[in-house]
Amino acid sequence: MLALSRRMPAALLAMLVPLATWASADRPLLIRDGYIMPMTPGGQDLPRGDVLIRGDTIVAVGEKLSVPDAEIIDAKGRFVLPGFVDAHSHLWVTTLRGQFRNAGGKFFPVSNALGSKMQPDDIYTAMYTGALELLNGGITTSGDFFDNVRGPAWAEAGFSALRDAGIRAIMYYGGPDKSTRFPVDLNHATALAARQDPLVKVGLAWRLPRQLNDEQNWAVRDREYRWAKARGLPIQVHVSGDADAMFEALIARRYLAPSVTLVHATNARASQLQALNHAGASLAITPLSEQRVGYGLTRLDHFDGVTRIGFGIDGNSLAGSGDMFATMRLAALTLSGATADESRPDPRQLLIMATRGGAETLGLDKETGSLAPGKRADIQIISPDSLTMSGYGGGDPAALLLYSAQPHNVATVIINGRIVKQDGKLNAVDLAEVLATAQRSAEALQQRAVE
Ligand SMILES: [Zn+2]
Repeated sequence: MLALSRRMPAALLAMLVPLATWASADRPLLIRDGYIMPMTPGGQDLPRGDVLIRGDTIVAVGEKLSVPDAEIIDAKGRFVLPGFVDAHSHLWVTTLRGQFRNAGGKFFPVSNALGSKMQPDDIYTAMYTGALELLNGGITTSGDFFDNVRGPAWAEAGFSALRDAGIRAIMYYGGPDKSTRFPVDLNHATALAARQDPLVKVGLAWRLPRQLNDEQNWAVRDREYRWAKARGLPIQVHVSGDADAMFEALIARRYLAPSVTLVHATNARASQLQALNHAGASLAITPLSEQRVGYGLTRLDHFDGVTRIGFGIDGNSLAGSGDMFATMRLAALTLSGATADESRPDPRQLLIMATRGGAETLGLDKETGSLAPGKRADIQIISPDSLTMSGYGGGDPAALLLYSAQPHNVATVIINGRIVKQDGKLNAVDLAEVLATAQRSAEALQQRAVE
């Protein structure tokens, strides 16, 4: 906090109100009487069930749990499910909202130009605000591909932002371009990875050479890859743009592995997806951004053979907003539209992908993504008590959530046993100040861009 105070302006410090509600070991938290959707393999819903939390951990999921002295969250008439897992994001682009206007402002030129003007304080503001947006909509974990690290201070700002927001995250550490001008600072990344933060872990945002025959660049990339591999740190890499050749290069150079997550691969060949699956690697797909930037249609049936697969937001401003409901809905509607088959997909499959599937994609499924004893308490409670979800008298709850729910319907969010959103409001956050700071940072960035 002291180091932060020296670096952060007063307005940002005002956002860091150290107030929280926790399930403590001596005062357990009991979510009572909700419609429980555990998302465990083969797990059944409990129409009137309870979830008991002690400290940071779920200790029981069942019916009529009796726990003297527990703090009660009444979930009657509400849906209780694991927090969503955003398998791939770029939270640093949050303050570029409204900048991507098709012909007049394509994503990559605009984000590169504005990103180059961002100072550590801008990074902090964007990532903190973006992470709050995610958890406000029930996303409790994010795999953040931070590809704008321009020096250790930028990485520190991003790490602090994720930690202060209270979201579970992997911060994939990466430079702002594909040249060797900004190789990953492996000394600093090593120090950051050793922080032992309970929620924020470090991985490698791995970027392939733009020219895939540039062996000098590959030598730098190979060193980064081996650094992560040797430490058991997760790796994410985009397969987009020159996607086919990139995927082929990853296969030929034997880089696919269980700790590696590929991102996009929208039109990958069947043989490539088989190689990915065979190597135990995972895939993050980001329907909103993939279709937004014209990678093609994100068709779920294309990825039927992939075992570890999850949804990502891929940058709140590019996707429009950090909204997992909209992400699932677009994927569902694209499939039924493209196949002219109203019966596809099964709504529950999308909810599984957005929770346990995302956790499996990130290698975090032992900790999060489902409601079962021993998992960390990462939970969202959705209230249908609003016009957008009105008129539900039974039927398929998964279909109700998939087609009708929106972030504002998320009433309560718990991360690692801590209540971060309650009664529809974020705890310990001065929202007006957060929004004003984000706007100031966005305006200053644009000013710097034209100077
Ligand atoms: Zn991305």
